[in-house]
Amino acid sequence: MTDKPLGAKSSLFTLYDLHSHTTASDGLLSPEALVARAVAMGVDVLAITDHDTLKGVAVARQAIISQALPLTLIAGVEISTRWQNHEIHIVGLGIDIAHPAITELLAAQREKRRERAVDIAQRLERAGITGAWEGAQGFACDGVITRGHFARYLVSIGKADNLAAVFKKYLSKGNTGYAPSQWCSIEEAVSAVRQAGGQAVVAHPGRYQLSAKWLKRLLDHFVAAGGEGIEVASCQQSPQERTLLAGYARERQLLGSQGSDFHMPCAWIELGRKLWLPGGVEPIWRDWPTHHTVAPA
Ligand code: AMP
Ligand code: MN
Ligand code: MN
Ligand code: MN
Repeated sequence: MTDKPLGAKSSLFTLYDLHSHTTASDGLLSPEALVARAVAMGVDVLAITDHDTLKGVAVARQAIISQALPLTLIAGVEISTRWQNHEIHIVGLGIDIAHPAITELLAAQREKRRERAVDIAQRLERAGITGAWEGAQGFACDGVITRGHFARYLVSIGKADNLAAVFKKYLSKGNTGYAPSQWCSIEEAVSAVRQAGGQAVVAHPGRYQLSAKWLKRLLDHFVAAGGEGIEVASCQQSPQERTLLAGYARERQLLGSQGSDFHMPCAWIELGRKLWLPGGVEPIWRDWPTHHTVAPA
């Protein structure tokens, strides 16, 4: 037997990570740094799925080509939608990044994000927290603004110890800095993804705090809207959650997806980690060509 370094790539299977973020939205790594890290972690196929923007995809594609990296890039996006007073995230995979159906929807979403950011800053200001607009902008640089950037600002001025605590205290529903937003509907998001040639996937279904009854309603609504996939596997979920979601996928003939939702290097979330689909779940990549990749610009 030959000695293999720990974590060395096994050539027997293809490792897919179909949910990740860059500095184009609330990720901490540039698109170039993200693709380099994906290769280092043994990922073969990576989808970049920034919040309401496709800006990171072209940059990542250039880096892969110029450095001849052994990585297949899937053009993706994560769209915020509103359904029954819940914020539901829809991931689009394999989309034509120049298609007007998707670029126009995302431009409208970013305008709503800008308006919501002003609202969040005003709410914080009324609660005595100044400088949030400039602070969040500073963390966003020229990326799409998210609550994640407000969270980093609030941590930086000592309002809480970490991001989770700041969300709990200020930014989640019902708290001082929470501002509602009129995101597009699930139908609009799915339709734009499909018109742009992609597949729509319900992101992290376990994270919406929905009862089983409401989660099933959401999935039925998503299927009726033309959605094809559901994220079954992520690295932080319990084994029970993965089994449950696999069951929902099989019952509805939804294709299974998997993704880390990587935002930044940290101890508990890593690109490619613990990503596999339970038996009987048809993978979202079932009909993808072997070398399915983003066409050169
Ligand atoms: P937004 O899309 O602007 O509402 O921001 C949502 C983003 O905030 C998510 O994609 C996460 O990156 C981040 N986020 C939400 N909740 C938490 C939390 N409890 N802890 C850390 N980050 C969070
Ligand atoms: Mn995020
Ligand atoms: Mn999300
Ligand atoms: Mn995400």
